[in-house]
Amino acid sequence: MPHPMQGDVLVIAEHWKGEPEGVTLQMLTKGRELADSGGVGLAVLVLGHGLDDVVEVLRGKGMDTIWVLDDPALARAGGGVEAHAIAEAVRAIDPGLILIGYSLVGMELAPAIAVGLGVTAMTNCVDVGIEDGAVVVTRPFFDGTQHAKIVLEGKGPPLVALQGGATPTVGLGATEVAVRPVAVDLSAVPARGQVLEVIEEAVSDVDITKAEIIVAVGRGIGGKEKIAVIEELTQALGGLMACSRPLVDLGWLGRERQVGASGKSVAPKVYLACGISGASQHLSGMSDSRLIVAINKDPNAPIFQVAHYGVVGDLLEIVPALTAEARKVAG
Ligand SMILES: Cc1cc2nc3c(=O)[nH]c(=O)nc-3n(C[C@H](O)[C@H](O)[C@H](O)COP(=O)(O)OP(=O)(O)OC[C@H]3O[C@@H](n4cnc5c(N)ncnc54)[C@H](O)[C@@H]3O)c2cc1C
Repeated sequence: MPHPMQGDVLVIAEHWKGEPEGVTLQMLTKGRELADSGGVGLAVLVLGHGLDDVVEVLRGKGMDTIWVLDDPALARAGGGVEAHAIAEAVRAIDPGLILIGYSLVGMELAPAIAVGLGVTAMTNCVDVGIEDGAVVVTRPFFDGTQHAKIVLEGKGPPLVALQGGATPTVGLGATEVAVRPVAVDLSAVPARGQVLEVIEEAVSDVDITKAEIIVAVGRGIGGKEKIAVIEELTQALGGLMACSRPLVDLGWLGRERQVGASGKSVAPKVYLACGISGASQHLSGMSDSRLIVAINKDPNAPIFQVAHYGVVGDLLEIVPALTAEARKVAG
């Protein structure tokens, strides 16, 4: 049987150094829309230790209730303890729907929370809505070439893990917020792992999130040495170079340049995708770009579904021609 929505929409907040992550703000935007259409409230669950700062930042971001689970045991807890804590808090809060970001954290926690609660979970979703009182999600399959709409069935509140970038963040008006504690007994939970140290990535000068023009390179470039072709076009256009994940995994470019679900979300004026297939995990990080231009030799590449302009052909021929043209215009 489909899930009729009863009870609040509950967003599981992800935060770092007192700031909510972007994906949490996107969940709140989506959550507000769902709560309003379902005639229910929007709540957020914040867990960890020493949460005053993040609670303060979250106030007025459109939710009706902030549930705070503050416990020293959560200061450096591993995923198992966190998932247990969330599942127990959810039992106490009794929401109608749980939203979590499909971030690296959400990917780890979502299945464990769902197993703990015995509820239906759907990960990697690009949309969620309420249709005829039932929770319906949209999810990519076959590397993003197909999408399916799925009605969630089963007992208890369904858990939906939404891709970052699936929903834009809208500045939500301030609301009356009730800040309420929720307590969970974590003393008997076996800590199978503990965070000993957080190693922060070296700060890089490259900030692709601020660039107005991005030239993004994908695996279609065919070799590290050929990236120079993309660099030349980037310079000619006065932009910044970004990339898809395989280039980072191959060690060809730094992680600070990765666009997508496990990288950065960008929304430049121009996004030029060169040799990028357009997998959903990539699209979720760049589909808000104002103008998307794609170069790909495969006319059926999914990137063409989001591109405003597309060029079907070999990037190693097209990119140098564009560079020459850009230099002419600039000169
Ligand atoms: C949990 C998870 C998280 C992920 N996070 C991210 C993420 O944050 N960002 C991300 O990008 N990916 C991410 N991925 C990976 C993602 O699923 C894809 O595998 C990846 O985006 C593919 O990168 P690509 O398009 O560069 O390579 P491919 O899919 O290999 O595509 C290469 C494209 O280049 C084209 N091509 C080849 N040669 C040429 C040529 N000479 N000229 C023109 N076109 C050419 C091909 O037609 C093809 O379309 C994630 C995957 C998982 C499972």
